[in-house]
Amino acid sequence: MSTATPRYRFAPSPTGYFHVGGARTALYNWLLALKNNGTFVLRIEDTDESRNEPQWTQGIIDALAWIGIDSNDPHFEGPYFQSTYAAEHVAAAQRLFDSGNAYYCDLTSEQIQERAKAAGLNGYDGYSRDRGLAPGQGHVLRFKVPAGKTIVHDTVRGEVEFENSTIEDFVLLRGNGTPVFLLANVVDDITMNISHVLRAEEHLPNTPKQQMLWNALGVTPPVWAHVPVLVNEQRKKLSKRRDKVAVEQYREEGILPQAMVNYLMTLGWAPHGDTEIVPWQQIVEQFALESVNHSPAFFDIKKLQSFNGEYIRMMPLEDFITAAEVILTSSAAPWPADRYKPELFRAMAALVQTRVAVMAEVCALVDFLFLAEPPIDDAAFAKSFGADFAVPTLIEIAAAFETVEWNAESLKVAVETVGTKHDVKLGKLQGPLRIAISGRSVGPPLFEPIELLGREESLRRIKSALARAQG
Ligand code: GLU
Repeated sequence: MSTATPRYRFAPSPTGYFHVGGARTALYNWLLALKNNGTFVLRIEDTDESRNEPQWTQGIIDALAWIGIDSNDPHFEGPYFQSTYAAEHVAAAQRLFDSGNAYYCDLTSEQIQERAKAAGLNGYDGYSRDRGLAPGQGHVLRFKVPAGKTIVHDTVRGEVEFENSTIEDFVLLRGNGTPVFLLANVVDDITMNISHVLRAEEHLPNTPKQQMLWNALGVTPPVWAHVPVLVNEQRKKLSKRRDKVAVEQYREEGILPQAMVNYLMTLGWAPHGDTEIVPWQQIVEQFALESVNHSPAFFDIKKLQSFNGEYIRMMPLEDFITAAEVILTSSAAPWPADRYKPELFRAMAALVQTRVAVMAEVCALVDFLFLAEPPIDDAAFAKSFGADFAVPTLIEIAAAFETVEWNAESLKVAVETVGTKHDVKLGKLQGPLRIAISGRSVGPPLFEPIELLGREESLRRIKSALARAQG
């Protein structure tokens, strides 16, 4: 059956958190559907009952929505659930049997192994091909792999050739009559009129078998496209056990969806021009499956964070404040809820916005404004107060702060005056002051927050640090 408009699909198995590789595959499909005015079909491949859980399905739908794949968009169709199509899978198997493309076999796996060993083969030797067995308990249905070659025309990888002699007569129905994944996947694609199968490269070895099934079922195979694997720093395939792969986790840590989307799009594809940070609309205009390359793509968390930093800086200030407040007012914030002062954060927000790569870093930059006693970084304290000038200059700074006009500019001038007198540059002089005020050696510009903290509290902190330094 042919369709006028292209139909893409994303077919995840709901067996865990949503993998960044899955998100990339989904995005490529989504983008092509938008670009070519096609349809994006979401099919949940939930036939492995031992591993599926409904919560993962909801997780997939939520994560897709987060990266902008909106189930209410007219290009979106589904979700369909593979488990509800078992009758179609079995019926297709029956058609393959009736047309002579499949046959039953009653060998046990031990018998198959023995025969393979005796004949020096890797797998099943086709023993039952002409035995004319009928269906029966324990009989598996196998596909009769034809002689010759299978050529898969892959839009990303070019022509990939497989010798059919290396492919054993593979199983379609298990001994208990249930369909295997390979068959279910093809039958669903046919039933759902899929024209383009774009998926991860790890499915490439399945493709010749699937293409044979399409042909044997009398349907023209889809356009195939296998996108490159994602690898970690050691060039190993990203894995759930080894690497941070859950989209949900990045989302919780404050990666913005726009940054995630833009970054994922660059894994295997590059926008035109010399910057990779490009708005979604431009990606939609430029993306072409033909320009996706096939070398493994390094999922670089640092690069993702730097994309995120760029997106944070591009946010209108009000949006940044809104996004930050989600974290600042959450139970993960290190201060008691009643100590959070929105007006203090608002006054600091522009200074913070330029200094974070992920939203989660916001807390550490402003915690000293909301904690009654910000914890002191001992090592940084020892280092800063180890300088000879530290205590004498800070004593003079404290004295000046008693009377100075209380605003950031005058505070800065007061500190500079002490610096000139002692011949210490402002940058250095600020070290002990910053530790005294914030407990840390790095942070946003200092004088604005000192102004916000107020004279009394700032002097209390400076004096307490001096007391500690003087032992
Ligand atoms: N359900 C398969 C997976 O999650 C996808 C198969 C396909 O895209 O054809 O890996």
